[in-house]
Amino acid sequence: MTRTLFAVLAATLLSLGYVAAQQQLPPGQIRPRPAEGREPEFPPPNIREYKPRSTLVVPEHLVPRAKFPVVDVHGHPPNISSPEAVNVVGDSMAPLNLQVMVNANATPSDRIKPSLDAIRASRYKDRMVMFTSLDLRGVGPGSGQKIAAQLEADVKAGALGVGEIMKSFGLTIRKADGSRLKLDDPELDPVWEKAADLNIPVFIHVGDPSEFFKPIDYNNERWLELSLYRDRRYQDRSRFPDFEELMGERDRLFAKHKRTTWILAHLGWHANDLARVAKMFDANPKLYSEVGAVLYDIGRQPRAAHDFFVKYQDRLLFGKDSYQPDEYPYYWRVFETNDEYFDYYRDYHAFWKLYGIGLPDQVLKKLYYQNAMKIIPGLPRAGFPTN
Ligand SMILES: [Zn+2]
Repeated sequence: MTRTLFAVLAATLLSLGYVAAQQQLPPGQIRPRPAEGREPEFPPPNIREYKPRSTLVVPEHLVPRAKFPVVDVHGHPPNISSPEAVNVVGDSMAPLNLQVMVNANATPSDRIKPSLDAIRASRYKDRMVMFTSLDLRGVGPGSGQKIAAQLEADVKAGALGVGEIMKSFGLTIRKADGSRLKLDDPELDPVWEKAADLNIPVFIHVGDPSEFFKPIDYNNERWLELSLYRDRRYQDRSRFPDFEELMGERDRLFAKHKRTTWILAHLGWHANDLARVAKMFDANPKLYSEVGAVLYDIGRQPRAAHDFFVKYQDRLLFGKDSYQPDEYPYYWRVFETNDEYFDYYRDYHAFWKLYGIGLPDQVLKKLYYQNAMKIIPGLPRAGFPTN
């Protein structure tokens, strides 16, 4: 009897010790290995140096040209000040099957007409459209009505939407009284309602990935990026709101303006939590999102992302963000193939590889152009399939 009790006690202590040891181990290591505590005999590489060659042999399907013509709703063309400049951009779009680019450069009102003139005089008059910007600096009593009137004039001049509203809205822009301009500030209500009246979408970028707001330590997925880019650090709470505070303002803004068509940039920076985006779509029937600059999150969860893209196929738009033509084929490959474990193009975004999510044609067409056509009246139809 005593012996049994002793054995049970010993087993319990052992398992407790095991659990304690387990807690000190790094993620993915379940027990100390024989080399535990040993120092490497060669100088360990730093995270920028270690680029192991993958020995995995699997089929590869490179996709230099999208399967269907594409509308890029998050376009940042470098320069379209003249017909020649538009031609340079258009020439680089054609081989990618990029049919229409939405210029989301937050173009000031007085540049809308000259830009449209340059596009019309170029060889690509049906290939680029303009969104306009909102001047949100120094908002005070009466600003909302003024900005709404300007928006109406810009749309008359040919703008097909608002945007991109940059992340400075919410993070840094101040009101006339010096306080931070919150995303759901009631002074701006007339602007969002005007957009609904005009039946144009509002393309809004809110904040940055949640890791940019967290301590910059070795558990931070974006350590390298934060270390490289000083202007992406939002740890200082006396200057910046907290990530969830900002997202709360955003969610209240959408809830308050349900008639407005919203295009959320970058899957709302929740591509690492697609259930959260799903909840937002469910709560806001006129909310859409584009997928730019979060390919690293889509491509690391191919099964979940596939199901999400299928379920919300009517709410997703293609967008790329920074205009670098050689990066688009990575998007085509993730969306169109079931390829496995292939390279991403920016090491500071992701330390992992990508997988294709193999979307069916019907979903690809919606993502690539049909949804954009549905919510951006006036988008050119030339060059797109009719079904
Ligand atoms: Zn952008």
